[in-house]
Amino acid sequence: MGSNGGKGGLWNRPAETLSRAEYVRLQEAKLRALLDKLNRESPFYRRKFKEAGVDPTGVRTLDDLRRLPTTDKEDHRHSQLEKPPLGDFHLVSLQNGAKLHGSGGTTGKPLLYLDSLRSWNWVSEVWAYCLTAQGVGPSSVVLMPSGYNMFIGFWGAHHGIEKVGGITVPAGATSTERRVEMILEFGCTNFICTPSYAIHMGETAQKMGIDPATTPIVGTHHAAEPGASIPATKRRIEQLWGAKCYDNYGMVELGSSIMYECGERSGMHIMEDQIIAEFIHPETRQPVKAGEEGEIIWTSIGVRGFEALPLVRYRSKDLAVYTEEPCPCGRTTRRLVGGIRGKLDDIKKVRGVNLFPPAIESTLARFEELSHEWEAVIDRPRELDTITVSVEASPGYPRERWPDLTERVAKALASAIMLSCEVRIAPPGEIGPRYANVLKPGWKRLIDKRDVPF
Ligand SMILES: [Zn+2]
Repeated sequence: MGSNGGKGGLWNRPAETLSRAEYVRLQEAKLRALLDKLNRESPFYRRKFKEAGVDPTGVRTLDDLRRLPTTDKEDHRHSQLEKPPLGDFHLVSLQNGAKLHGSGGTTGKPLLYLDSLRSWNWVSEVWAYCLTAQGVGPSSVVLMPSGYNMFIGFWGAHHGIEKVGGITVPAGATSTERRVEMILEFGCTNFICTPSYAIHMGETAQKMGIDPATTPIVGTHHAAEPGASIPATKRRIEQLWGAKCYDNYGMVELGSSIMYECGERSGMHIMEDQIIAEFIHPETRQPVKAGEEGEIIWTSIGVRGFEALPLVRYRSKDLAVYTEEPCPCGRTTRRLVGGIRGKLDDIKKVRGVNLFPPAIESTLARFEELSHEWEAVIDRPRELDTITVSVEASPGYPRERWPDLTERVAKALASAIMLSCEVRIAPPGEIGPRYANVLKPGWKRLIDKRDVPF
Protein backbone atom coordinates (compact mmCIF):
# COMPACT_ATOMS: atom_id res chain seq x y z
CA MET A 1 0.00 0.00 0.00
CA GLY A 2 1.16 3.54 -0.63
CA SER A 3 1.84 5.79 2.32
CA ASN A 4 -1.73 7.07 2.20
CA GLY A 5 -3.30 3.66 1.90
CA GLY A 6 -3.06 3.69 -1.89
CA LYS A 7 -5.62 6.48 -1.99
CA GLY A 8 -3.61 9.13 -3.76
CA GLY A 9 -2.86 12.67 -2.72
CA LEU A 10 -1.63 15.91 -4.25
CA TRP A 11 2.08 16.34 -4.91
CA ASN A 12 1.88 20.09 -5.45
CA ARG A 13 -1.41 21.26 -3.96
CA PRO A 14 -1.06 25.00 -4.76
CA ALA A 15 -0.31 24.28 -8.43
CA GLU A 16 -3.05 21.69 -8.80
CA THR A 17 -5.86 23.70 -7.25
CA LEU A 18 -5.76 27.17 -8.84
CA SER A 19 -8.91 28.87 -10.02
CA ARG A 20 -9.51 29.00 -13.78
CA ALA A 21 -8.60 32.70 -13.84
CA GLU A 22 -5.37 31.97 -11.94
CA TYR A 23 -4.42 29.22 -14.41
CA VAL A 24 -5.00 31.59 -17.31
CA ARG A 25 -2.89 34.34 -15.65
CA LEU A 26 -0.08 31.88 -14.91
CA GLN A 27 -0.14 30.40 -18.41
CA GLU A 28 -0.14 33.80 -20.08
CA ALA A 29 2.80 35.05 -17.99
CA LYS A 30 4.82 31.92 -18.76
CA LEU A 31 3.85 32.04 -22.43
CA ARG A 32 5.12 35.61 -22.80
CA ALA A 33 8.41 34.68 -21.12
CA LEU A 34 8.79 31.59 -23.32
CA LEU A 35 8.14 33.44 -26.58
CA ASP A 36 10.51 36.20 -25.54
CA LYS A 37 13.24 33.64 -24.91
CA LEU A 38 12.60 31.74 -28.16
CA ASN A 39 12.66 34.96 -30.14
CA ARG A 40 16.12 35.61 -28.77
CA GLU A 41 17.59 32.12 -28.64
CA SER A 42 15.87 29.71 -31.05
CA PRO A 43 16.71 29.84 -34.77
CA PHE A 44 13.99 27.20 -35.34
CA TYR A 45 11.18 29.25 -33.82
CA ARG A 46 12.44 32.56 -35.25
CA ARG A 47 12.23 30.91 -38.67
CA LYS A 48 8.75 29.47 -38.01
CA PHE A 49 7.38 32.82 -36.81
CA LYS A 50 8.95 34.68 -39.72
CA GLU A 51 7.55 32.22 -42.27
CA ALA A 52 4.10 32.72 -40.77
CA GLY A 53 4.55 36.51 -40.73
CA VAL A 54 3.79 36.76 -36.98
CA ASP A 55 5.61 38.85 -34.41
CA PRO A 56 5.75 36.68 -31.26
CA THR A 57 6.32 39.70 -29.02
CA GLY A 58 2.75 40.77 -29.83
CA VAL A 59 1.36 37.55 -28.34
CA ARG A 60 0.13 38.48 -24.84
CA THR A 61 -2.86 36.22 -24.16
CA LEU A 62 -4.04 32.66 -24.74
CA ASP A 63 -6.33 34.01 -27.47
CA ASP A 64 -3.32 35.60 -29.19
CA LEU A 65 -1.54 32.24 -29.09
CA ARG A 66 -3.79 31.06 -31.92
CA ARG A 67 -2.11 33.51 -34.28
CA LEU A 68 1.12 31.49 -34.09
CA PRO A 69 1.69 28.61 -36.50
CA THR A 70 1.40 25.01 -35.31
CA THR A 71 4.50 22.80 -35.30
CA ASP A 72 4.79 19.04 -35.57
CA LYS A 73 7.05 16.03 -35.78
CA GLU A 74 7.75 16.71 -39.46
CA ASP A 75 9.25 20.09 -38.52
CA HIS A 76 11.55 18.30 -36.08
CA ARG A 77 12.45 15.71 -38.72
CA HIS A 78 13.37 18.34 -41.31
CA SER A 79 15.39 20.25 -38.78
CA GLN A 80 17.39 17.13 -37.82
CA LEU A 81 17.95 16.20 -41.47
CA GLU A 82 19.32 19.65 -42.20
CA LYS A 83 21.37 20.05 -39.03
CA PRO A 84 22.20 16.59 -37.69
CA PRO A 85 22.17 15.16 -35.17
CA LEU A 86 19.86 17.35 -33.03
CA GLY A 87 18.46 19.92 -35.46
CA ASP A 88 18.05 23.51 -34.31
CA PHE A 89 14.92 23.31 -32.16
CA HIS A 90 16.63 22.42 -28.86
CA LEU A 91 17.82 25.03 -26.38
CA VAL A 92 20.44 22.61 -25.05
CA SER A 93 23.58 21.51 -26.90
CA LEU A 94 25.25 18.09 -26.87
CA GLN A 95 27.96 19.59 -24.64
CA ASN A 96 25.40 20.64 -22.01
CA GLY A 97 23.08 17.68 -22.40
CA ALA A 98 22.43 14.99 -19.82
CA LYS A 99 20.05 12.46 -21.36
CA LEU A 100 19.26 11.45 -24.93
CA HIS A 101 15.96 9.89 -26.05
CA GLY A 102 14.68 8.56 -29.32
CA SER A 103 11.27 8.65 -30.87
CA GLY A 104 10.18 5.82 -33.13
CA GLY A 105 9.01 6.80 -36.57
CA THR A 106 7.75 5.13 -39.69
CA THR A 107 10.81 6.14 -41.71
CA GLY A 108 13.25 4.03 -39.72
CA LYS A 109 15.62 6.57 -38.22
CA PRO A 110 14.47 7.74 -34.78
CA LEU A 111 14.21 11.43 -33.97
CA LEU A 112 16.51 12.51 -31.15
CA TYR A 113 15.48 14.55 -28.12
CA LEU A 114 17.98 15.83 -25.57
CA ASP A 115 17.50 16.87 -21.94
CA SER A 116 19.72 19.02 -19.74
CA LEU A 117 20.17 17.95 -16.14
CA ARG A 118 17.67 20.59 -15.02
CA SER A 119 15.06 19.59 -17.58
CA TRP A 120 15.56 15.92 -16.71
CA ASN A 121 14.94 16.77 -13.04
CA TRP A 122 11.75 18.49 -14.15
CA VAL A 123 10.64 15.26 -15.86
CA SER A 124 10.83 13.35 -12.57
CA GLU A 125 9.11 16.24 -10.75
CA VAL A 126 6.20 16.09 -13.16
CA TRP A 127 5.96 12.30 -12.88
CA ALA A 128 5.69 12.86 -9.14
CA TYR A 129 2.36 14.70 -9.71
CA CYS A 130 1.00 11.63 -11.55
CA LEU A 131 2.37 8.98 -9.20
CA THR A 132 1.23 10.77 -6.05
CA ALA A 133 -2.27 11.16 -7.47
CA GLN A 134 -2.25 7.40 -8.07
CA GLY A 135 -1.23 6.39 -4.56
CA VAL A 136 2.47 5.71 -5.20
CA GLY A 137 4.55 6.89 -2.26
CA PRO A 138 7.26 5.96 0.25
CA SER A 139 5.92 2.48 0.94
CA SER A 140 5.36 1.55 -2.69
CA VAL A 141 7.40 -1.11 -4.49
CA VAL A 142 6.93 -0.63 -8.22
CA LEU A 143 7.68 -3.30 -10.82
CA MET A 144 8.87 -1.93 -14.17
CA PRO A 145 8.29 -4.82 -16.57
CA SER A 146 10.15 -3.35 -19.53
CA GLY A 147 13.61 -3.07 -21.03
CA TYR A 148 14.88 0.52 -20.67
CA ASN A 149 16.02 1.82 -24.02
CA MET A 150 15.79 5.13 -25.88
CA PHE A 151 12.04 5.27 -25.19
CA ILE A 152 11.69 7.95 -22.52
CA GLY A 153 8.60 6.66 -20.69
CA PHE A 154 10.05 4.12 -18.30
CA TRP A 155 13.10 6.24 -17.47
CA GLY A 156 10.93 9.20 -16.50
CA ALA A 157 8.57 7.08 -14.43
CA HIS A 158 11.54 5.35 -12.77
CA HIS A 159 13.03 8.64 -11.56
CA GLY A 160 9.57 9.88 -10.58
CA ILE A 161 9.11 6.85 -8.31
CA GLU A 162 12.45 7.64 -6.65
CA LYS A 163 11.30 11.23 -6.18
CA VAL A 164 8.10 10.26 -4.33
CA GLY A 165 10.13 7.91 -2.13
CA GLY A 166 9.10 4.56 -3.62
CA ILE A 167 11.26 1.63 -4.64
CA THR A 168 11.65 0.64 -8.29
CA VAL A 169 12.12 -2.97 -9.36
CA PRO A 170 13.61 -2.88 -12.89
CA ALA A 171 12.33 -6.05 -14.54
CA GLY A 172 13.42 -5.79 -18.17
CA ALA A 173 15.16 -8.62 -20.04
CA THR A 174 13.27 -11.41 -18.31
CA SER A 175 10.18 -13.53 -18.89
CA THR A 176 6.61 -12.67 -17.91
CA GLU A 177 6.57 -15.72 -15.59
CA ARG A 178 9.64 -14.39 -13.79
CA ARG A 179 7.99 -10.97 -13.45
CA VAL A 180 4.99 -12.59 -11.77
CA GLU A 181 7.37 -14.33 -9.37
CA MET A 182 9.13 -11.02 -8.68
CA ILE A 183 5.80 -9.42 -7.70
CA LEU A 184 5.36 -12.09 -5.03
CA GLU A 185 9.03 -12.27 -3.94
CA PHE A 186 9.49 -8.51 -3.52
CA GLY A 187 5.94 -7.68 -2.47
CA CYS A 188 5.41 -5.31 -5.39
CA THR A 189 2.46 -2.98 -4.82
CA ASN A 190 2.28 -1.37 -8.28
CA PHE A 191 3.46 -1.82 -11.86
CA ILE A 192 3.77 0.39 -14.92
CA CYS A 193 3.20 -0.98 -18.44
CA THR A 194 0.82 -0.89 -21.40
CA PRO A 195 -2.76 -1.99 -20.63
CA SER A 196 -2.45 -5.01 -22.93
CA TYR A 197 0.65 -6.17 -21.09
CA ALA A 198 -1.19 -5.85 -17.75
CA ILE A 199 -3.80 -8.29 -19.03
CA HIS A 200 -1.17 -10.60 -20.52
CA MET A 201 0.79 -10.65 -17.24
CA GLY A 202 -2.41 -11.33 -15.26
CA GLU A 203 -3.39 -14.20 -17.56
CA THR A 204 0.15 -15.59 -17.33
CA ALA A 205 -0.15 -15.57 -13.53
CA GLN A 206 -3.42 -17.51 -13.81
CA LYS A 207 -1.72 -20.12 -16.02
CA MET A 208 0.94 -20.44 -13.30
CA GLY A 209 -1.85 -21.19 -10.83
CA ILE A 210 -1.61 -17.77 -9.16
CA ASP A 211 -4.68 -15.54 -8.83
CA PRO A 212 -3.32 -12.05 -9.64
CA ALA A 213 -6.01 -10.49 -7.43
CA THR A 214 -4.37 -12.12 -4.40
CA THR A 215 -0.93 -10.53 -5.06
CA PRO A 216 0.02 -7.32 -3.18
CA ILE A 217 -0.62 -5.20 -6.32
CA VAL A 218 -2.91 -2.24 -5.46
CA GLY A 219 -2.33 0.01 -8.48
CA THR A 220 -1.56 -0.53 -12.16
CA HIS A 221 -0.34 2.47 -14.16
CA HIS A 222 -0.52 2.78 -17.89
CA ALA A 223 0.32 4.91 -20.89
CA ALA A 224 1.12 4.59 -24.60
CA GLU A 225 -2.22 2.98 -25.52
CA PRO A 226 -5.81 4.12 -25.12
CA GLY A 227 -6.90 0.99 -23.21
CA ALA A 228 -6.65 2.22 -19.62
CA SER A 229 -9.31 4.86 -20.35
CA ILE A 230 -11.61 2.42 -22.16
CA PRO A 231 -14.13 1.43 -19.45
CA ALA A 232 -14.32 -2.25 -20.38
CA THR A 233 -10.52 -2.66 -20.58
CA LYS A 234 -10.06 -0.75 -17.32
CA ARG A 235 -12.63 -2.97 -15.62
CA ARG A 236 -10.94 -6.07 -16.94
CA ILE A 237 -7.53 -5.02 -15.57
CA GLU A 238 -9.07 -3.99 -12.22
CA GLN A 239 -10.93 -7.28 -11.84
CA LEU A 240 -7.93 -9.35 -12.90
CA TRP A 241 -5.51 -7.67 -10.49
CA GLY A 242 -7.97 -6.61 -7.76
CA ALA A 243 -6.34 -3.17 -8.09
CA LYS A 244 -7.01 0.34 -9.35
CA CYS A 245 -6.02 0.93 -12.97
CA TYR A 246 -4.81 4.43 -13.90
CA ASP A 247 -4.26 6.06 -17.28
CA ASN A 248 -1.48 8.53 -18.08
CA TYR A 249 -0.52 10.45 -21.21
CA GLY A 250 2.85 11.59 -22.46
CA MET A 251 5.04 11.93 -25.52
CA VAL A 252 8.83 12.01 -25.84
CA GLU A 253 8.51 15.60 -27.07
CA LEU A 254 6.66 16.53 -23.86
CA GLY A 255 9.16 14.62 -21.72
CA SER A 256 6.76 13.17 -19.21
CA SER A 257 3.24 12.15 -18.55
CA ILE A 258 1.45 15.52 -18.40
CA MET A 259 -2.08 14.15 -18.06
CA TYR A 260 -2.95 11.67 -15.36
CA GLU A 261 -5.91 10.05 -13.68
CA CYS A 262 -6.43 10.68 -9.96
CA GLY A 263 -7.96 8.27 -7.45
CA GLU A 264 -11.43 9.03 -8.88
CA ARG A 265 -10.35 7.55 -12.21
CA SER A 266 -12.76 9.86 -13.98
CA GLY A 267 -10.63 11.19 -16.82
CA MET A 268 -7.05 12.43 -17.01
CA HIS A 269 -6.21 15.77 -15.36
CA ILE A 270 -4.20 18.16 -17.53
CA MET A 271 -1.16 19.55 -15.69
CA GLU A 272 -2.09 23.14 -16.49
CA ASP A 273 0.65 24.80 -14.48
CA GLN A 274 3.20 23.05 -16.74
CA ILE A 275 1.50 22.88 -20.12
CA ILE A 276 -1.03 24.81 -22.21
CA ALA A 277 -3.55 22.56 -23.94
CA GLU A 278 -5.63 23.89 -26.81
CA PHE A 279 -8.39 21.76 -28.32
CA ILE A 280 -9.07 22.53 -31.97
CA HIS A 281 -11.40 21.12 -34.58
CA PRO A 282 -9.40 18.73 -36.78
CA GLU A 283 -10.72 20.25 -39.99
CA THR A 284 -11.72 23.87 -39.34
CA ARG A 285 -8.72 24.34 -36.97
CA GLN A 286 -10.94 26.52 -34.75
CA PRO A 287 -11.11 26.03 -30.96
CA VAL A 288 -13.77 23.60 -29.77
CA LYS A 289 -15.78 23.93 -26.55
CA ALA A 290 -15.89 21.62 -23.55
CA GLY A 291 -17.69 18.44 -24.58
CA GLU A 292 -16.68 18.66 -28.26
CA GLU A 293 -14.01 16.52 -29.86
CA GLY A 294 -10.80 18.27 -30.88
CA GLU A 295 -7.11 17.72 -31.53
CA ILE A 296 -4.90 18.60 -28.55
CA ILE A 297 -2.23 21.21 -29.31
CA TRP A 298 0.54 21.55 -26.71
CA THR A 299 2.64 24.52 -25.64
CA SER A 300 5.27 23.68 -23.04
CA ILE A 301 5.61 26.17 -20.20
CA GLY A 302 7.58 24.01 -17.76
CA VAL A 303 11.34 23.96 -17.14
CA ARG A 304 11.89 21.58 -20.06
CA GLY A 305 10.27 24.02 -22.50
CA PHE A 306 12.48 26.85 -21.29
CA GLU A 307 15.75 24.92 -20.96
CA ALA A 308 15.86 22.06 -23.43
CA LEU A 309 12.94 21.32 -25.68
CA PRO A 310 10.53 24.14 -26.38
CA LEU A 311 7.18 23.26 -27.94
CA VAL A 312 4.91 25.98 -29.27
CA ARG A 313 1.53 24.87 -30.56
CA TYR A 314 2.85 21.35 -31.09
CA ARG A 315 0.34 19.04 -32.77
CA SER A 316 -0.37 15.86 -30.82
CA LYS A 317 -2.61 14.46 -33.58
CA ASP A 318 -4.60 13.01 -30.67
CA LEU A 319 -8.34 13.58 -30.50
CA ALA A 320 -10.00 14.14 -27.15
CA VAL A 321 -12.86 15.85 -25.34
CA TYR A 322 -12.33 17.99 -22.23
CA THR A 323 -14.51 19.03 -19.32
CA GLU A 324 -14.23 21.87 -16.81
CA GLU A 325 -16.49 20.09 -14.29
CA PRO A 326 -14.83 20.01 -10.86
CA CYS A 327 -13.35 16.66 -9.81
CA PRO A 328 -14.14 15.30 -6.32
CA CYS A 329 -10.37 14.89 -5.74
CA GLY A 330 -10.06 18.66 -5.28
CA ARG A 331 -7.97 19.35 -8.37
CA THR A 332 -9.31 22.21 -10.46
CA THR A 333 -7.63 21.52 -13.80
CA ARG A 334 -9.50 20.63 -16.93
CA ARG A 335 -9.80 16.88 -17.52
CA LEU A 336 -10.29 14.63 -20.51
CA VAL A 337 -13.53 12.76 -20.80
CA GLY A 338 -12.83 9.14 -21.68
CA GLY A 339 -9.14 9.35 -22.60
CA ILE A 340 -7.75 9.69 -26.11
CA ARG A 341 -10.54 9.04 -28.62
CA GLY A 342 -8.34 8.47 -31.63
CA LYS A 343 -5.18 9.46 -33.43
CA LEU A 344 -5.50 11.56 -36.56
CA ASP A 345 -2.75 9.48 -38.23
CA ASP A 346 -4.55 6.24 -37.38
CA ILE A 347 -7.96 7.16 -38.69
CA LYS A 348 -8.89 4.73 -41.42
CA LYS A 349 -11.58 5.78 -43.81
CA VAL A 350 -13.60 2.69 -44.59
CA ARG A 351 -16.51 3.04 -47.00
CA GLY A 352 -16.51 6.74 -46.12
CA VAL A 353 -16.69 6.15 -42.34
CA ASN A 354 -13.87 7.18 -39.96
CA LEU A 355 -12.65 4.17 -38.02
CA PHE A 356 -10.45 4.23 -34.90
CA PRO A 357 -8.81 1.21 -33.23
CA PRO A 358 -10.26 2.13 -29.76
CA ALA A 359 -13.80 1.80 -31.14
CA ILE A 360 -13.15 -1.83 -32.03
CA GLU A 361 -11.22 -2.54 -28.84
CA SER A 362 -13.87 -1.15 -26.52
CA THR A 363 -16.60 -3.19 -28.20
CA LEU A 364 -14.65 -6.46 -28.02
CA ALA A 365 -13.70 -5.79 -24.39
CA ARG A 366 -17.38 -5.96 -23.43
CA PHE A 367 -17.42 -9.73 -24.15
CA GLU A 368 -16.15 -11.93 -21.35
CA GLU A 369 -16.13 -14.85 -23.79
CA LEU A 370 -13.28 -13.14 -25.69
CA SER A 371 -9.66 -12.51 -24.76
CA HIS A 372 -8.19 -9.02 -25.32
CA GLU A 373 -6.14 -10.26 -28.30
CA TRP A 374 -7.57 -9.05 -31.59
CA GLU A 375 -6.63 -7.88 -35.04
CA ALA A 376 -8.64 -6.23 -37.79
CA VAL A 377 -7.73 -6.22 -41.46
CA ILE A 378 -9.15 -3.72 -43.92
CA ASP A 379 -8.95 -4.83 -47.52
CA ARG A 380 -10.46 -4.05 -50.90
CA PRO A 381 -10.61 -7.35 -52.77
CA ARG A 382 -12.91 -5.88 -55.43
CA GLU A 383 -14.73 -2.57 -55.42
CA LEU A 384 -15.79 -2.45 -51.81
CA ASP A 385 -13.77 -2.15 -48.59
CA THR A 386 -14.04 -5.14 -46.27
CA ILE A 387 -13.13 -5.45 -42.59
CA THR A 388 -12.32 -8.76 -41.00
CA VAL A 389 -12.03 -8.73 -37.23
CA SER A 390 -10.26 -11.74 -35.71
CA VAL A 391 -10.39 -12.16 -31.97
CA GLU A 392 -9.24 -14.92 -29.65
CA ALA A 393 -11.83 -16.77 -27.61
CA SER A 394 -11.20 -16.87 -23.85
CA PRO A 395 -9.38 -20.04 -22.87
CA GLY A 396 -11.93 -22.76 -22.11
CA TYR A 397 -14.86 -21.15 -23.94
CA PRO A 398 -16.52 -24.11 -25.70
CA ARG A 399 -15.93 -24.32 -29.43
CA GLU A 400 -19.51 -25.36 -30.22
CA ARG A 401 -20.67 -21.95 -29.01
CA TRP A 402 -18.34 -19.98 -31.29
CA PRO A 403 -20.88 -19.59 -34.16
CA ASP A 404 -23.37 -17.92 -31.84
CA LEU A 405 -20.63 -15.75 -30.34
CA THR A 406 -19.48 -14.74 -33.84
CA GLU A 407 -22.94 -13.50 -34.63
CA ARG A 408 -23.31 -11.50 -31.42
CA VAL A 409 -19.87 -9.88 -31.82
CA ALA A 410 -20.60 -8.94 -35.44
CA LYS A 411 -23.86 -7.31 -34.37
CA ALA A 412 -22.20 -5.34 -31.55
CA LEU A 413 -19.40 -4.15 -33.84
CA ALA A 414 -21.79 -3.10 -36.59
CA SER A 415 -23.71 -0.88 -34.20
CA ALA A 416 -20.56 0.54 -32.55
CA ILE A 417 -18.53 1.37 -35.65
CA MET A 418 -21.40 1.84 -38.12
CA LEU A 419 -19.83 -0.64 -40.52
CA SER A 420 -20.63 -4.28 -41.12
CA CYS A 421 -17.67 -6.55 -40.72
CA GLU A 422 -16.78 -10.19 -40.86
CA VAL A 423 -15.91 -11.69 -37.48
CA ARG A 424 -13.66 -14.67 -36.99
CA ILE A 425 -13.19 -16.27 -33.56
CA ALA A 426 -9.62 -17.55 -33.22
CA PRO A 427 -8.26 -20.18 -30.83
CA PRO A 428 -6.49 -18.80 -27.71
CA GLY A 429 -2.82 -18.06 -28.44
CA GLU A 430 -3.19 -17.49 -32.19
CA ILE A 431 -3.06 -13.67 -32.26
CA GLY A 432 -1.45 -12.61 -28.96
CA PRO A 433 2.14 -13.72 -29.64
CA ARG A 434 2.32 -11.51 -32.77
CA TYR A 435 1.87 -8.43 -30.57
CA ALA A 436 3.89 -9.54 -27.55
CA ASN A 437 6.87 -7.33 -28.41
CA VAL A 438 5.05 -4.45 -30.08
CA LEU A 439 5.47 -1.17 -28.20
CA LYS A 440 1.95 0.21 -28.65
CA PRO A 441 -0.05 -2.83 -29.76
CA GLY A 442 -3.42 -1.15 -29.22
CA TRP A 443 -2.75 1.20 -32.13
CA LYS A 444 -1.19 -1.41 -34.42
CA ARG A 445 -3.96 -3.99 -34.50
CA LEU A 446 -5.85 -2.31 -37.32
CA ILE A 447 -4.09 -3.33 -40.53
CA ASP A 448 -4.82 -1.66 -43.84
CA LYS A 449 -4.07 -3.84 -46.86
CA ARG A 450 -5.68 -1.61 -49.47
CA ASP A 451 -3.41 -0.17 -52.20
CA VAL A 452 -5.21 3.15 -52.00
CA PRO A 453 -6.34 3.63 -48.40
CA PHE A 454 -8.94 6.34 -49.10
ZN1 LIG B 1 -9.42 14.18 -9.88
